[in-house]
Amino acid sequence: MKRAIGVIAALLILVACGHSYGDTLYVEQVLEPEQEIQTNGNIKEYTPQAEEEYQPYEEYQPVEPQKIPTRAVTLREWGNFAWEFEYFADIRPPLVLTDYTPLGYLAIEQLHFINDHLYSRKPFSYREKEAAAWLIEEFLAMGHPWENIIVQEFHVYGDPNATGGAGSAWWNLTNLARWQSDFELRYTTRLSQNIIVTIPGQTSQKIIVGAHYDSWPTPGAADNASGTALLLESAQRMLAADNYYTIVYIFFGAEEVGLLGSRHFVGRLTDEEESNIVLMINADSLIDGPYMIYGTAYNDNALPGANDITRRIDAIAYELSLDIIGHPPASFLGSDQLPFLMRGHTIVTFMGLYRTELPGVTGFFRLDEAEFTRAVSHSQNDCVHVIEYRWPGKIETSMSTFSIFLDALLAVRW
Ligand SMILES: [Zn+2]
Repeated sequence: MKRAIGVIAALLILVACGHSYGDTLYVEQVLEPEQEIQTNGNIKEYTPQAEEEYQPYEEYQPVEPQKIPTRAVTLREWGNFAWEFEYFADIRPPLVLTDYTPLGYLAIEQLHFINDHLYSRKPFSYREKEAAAWLIEEFLAMGHPWENIIVQEFHVYGDPNATGGAGSAWWNLTNLARWQSDFELRYTTRLSQNIIVTIPGQTSQKIIVGAHYDSWPTPGAADNASGTALLLESAQRMLAADNYYTIVYIFFGAEEVGLLGSRHFVGRLTDEEESNIVLMINADSLIDGPYMIYGTAYNDNALPGANDITRRIDAIAYELSLDIIGHPPASFLGSDQLPFLMRGHTIVTFMGLYRTELPGVTGFFRLDEAEFTRAVSHSQNDCVHVIEYRWPGKIETSMSTFSIFLDALLAVRW
């Protein structure tokens, strides 16, 4: 995106978005290049590598899930392993939820907290684990019982330097003064974890709600503190609700190196568990641009097919008059819904993207003569302060909208 910004710097670009759920018009101000790289100061310390030094993760061939030795540990066992709970008690944002708390409000609070305190959540790193431990503390503070929280650890054995891909060329090994021994253990075995919290419903049929919490070595605000924060708020709200379905929130680890957490989760499901899944909802990169997008699908011979559930999701988005673009092919973009989709489950994935009509710019997909692509993720600009500066007010709008959408989907009897 940088070269595109350079070409059109300081121009006002008017983009009209004519999706099927009503007309949307955004006036987007493209900033001067020097404005664009302003940050809150957190980033420099944790992003020593230039972007071009990163290895594209498409080259990385992850180990098949069934070949990964695994164990699901109880929370107390994992806590005793290396963690003092209540570590974050002094600095966590307020979790007060009343009948008058607007949808999205708590998610925005959590997003800022993750951005400022839990940045650089690299797969297999201590920082990733620290974020995992923080998630558990949040669930406990909300009132989720211990027995409904699971740490699902998974290892990918092998020498990262020898196996290439997302090895040491990507994750900076020299910047690890603290927690060195723990990091070495986690790095050489590639130890990561999914954090799973379940809210039992009236039936054992399940709605899976997923978001990955790992990130590139940036604050990872859009990718994917935004999705993590959305799920956190939902897990707090639905705890007090009378739910028909059992809701399973999964915070996936190691997404950025090949969807390892979600592949692992799906690979470990029993036939019975798998048959109980009604719908998988995924949230990844909700503020990676000013346009809100969702994609619904079930896997119809590697094409996004429609069924009763996907049609009903479209109807809900329409009835709520959400300022959101429904685009089924978006459901095949690389994130944690894919392992579920490939197993035949119905999915819906949420994201926010940037739109450009510049010739030569190739995005994830083309819609209404414009390319939709990421604006900040996997770069130093993936920071709430940069995003807020670039699209004032959009963080609030997007988080609120996705929160309303998610809340509605969780209330439906499919
Ligand atoms: Zn992501």
